[in-house]
Amino acid sequence: MLPADGLLQLTPQGLYCPAAEAWIDPWRPVSRALITHAHADHARPGCGEYWATGSSEGILRQRLGGGINLIPVDYGALNRIGGARVSFHSAGHVLGSAQIRLEAGGESWLVSGDYKRCADPSCAPFEPVQADVFITEATFGLPIYRWQSGAAVARQILEWWQVAPERPSLLFCYAFGKAQRVLAELAALGVGEPGQPGAPGEEILLHGAVDALMQPYREASVVLPPTLAASRLERRADLAGRLVIAPPAAHRSAWMKRFQNPQTAFVSGWMAVRGARRRRGYERGFALSDHADWNGLLHSVRESGARQVYVTHGNSDGLARYLREVEGICAEPLDRVFAAERNDSETVSAEDAADGA
Ligand SMILES: [Zn+2]
Ligand SMILES: [Zn+2]
Repeated sequence: MLPADGLLQLTPQGLYCPAAEAWIDPWRPVSRALITHAHADHARPGCGEYWATGSSEGILRQRLGGGINLIPVDYGALNRIGGARVSFHSAGHVLGSAQIRLEAGGESWLVSGDYKRCADPSCAPFEPVQADVFITEATFGLPIYRWQSGAAVARQILEWWQVAPERPSLLFCYAFGKAQRVLAELAALGVGEPGQPGAPGEEILLHGAVDALMQPYREASVVLPPTLAASRLERRADLAGRLVIAPPAAHRSAWMKRFQNPQTAFVSGWMAVRGARRRRGYERGFALSDHADWNGLLHSVRESGARQVYVTHGNSDGLARYLREVEGICAEPLDRVFAAERNDSETVSAEDAADGA
């Protein structure tokens, strides 16, 4: 549990900072929300004020409504909110994602939100930040999780797509973040350039849920291949050899029927788990995550210099124990409270897919 006199407290609405009179990624509507990023389990509708990075504004308005009262902040800028000094620092997770650092009464706390340490051409890199107390996620907090680079996974995806010119290639992944990261990694390999796969006229096709989120990325000048909403093609168009990106919820749905004899694959950190691909009914799995792997988590805890660490999401007990016993850091899980409230978008989407929804 968090200390009763700490800078942050757990309330029924979520993590609360009394000094700033603000909640971080609240679970329920509150007067003032500080938002780490625009995934659905972190940014919920109904709050009075949303403080978030300027680079997440486009996605947040897309998802929560254009009329929300959003106060955009720059990475690294110091904001006075109530009696606290609050700054947002890049988390490297998705476009606009931030760790939030709060300081008041001579104490500093850092809330990681979701984060990763691998390079990602679709968002700013993780910024190491120091604080007295660090609240870290541990979605993939087991030593078995060690990620390959996004570039290496993108090469595998390109090869998988190119060996089946007679079939549409349906690639399923979370619509916000993962889809654009995959596209940006493919662009870095030349996809979309004249004479290359995905060149103009042979654009990568997008499910509507993915297409709706592309504009903020293009406005942020992320380099992406040309894309086209699949719904804009005529129903009888020949889709052999085309790459199509769709959210897991579209897998085995009526939407899929227009694609003749498709090959299917799922992109997720969970694809690193043996049996996960088969259970969800995909022909192929690519392990690519927007969360830190085991070494990324340890590295980040050490770099924070924190004297006290709280762990949420995923294997919080295991990571906290390792930090105490091997690293000699005061660490404990916060998960019992979080587990009931959160529903990780990546996990839920994957499970949806398993149900064929
Ligand atoms: Zn997230
Ligand atoms: Zn999350």
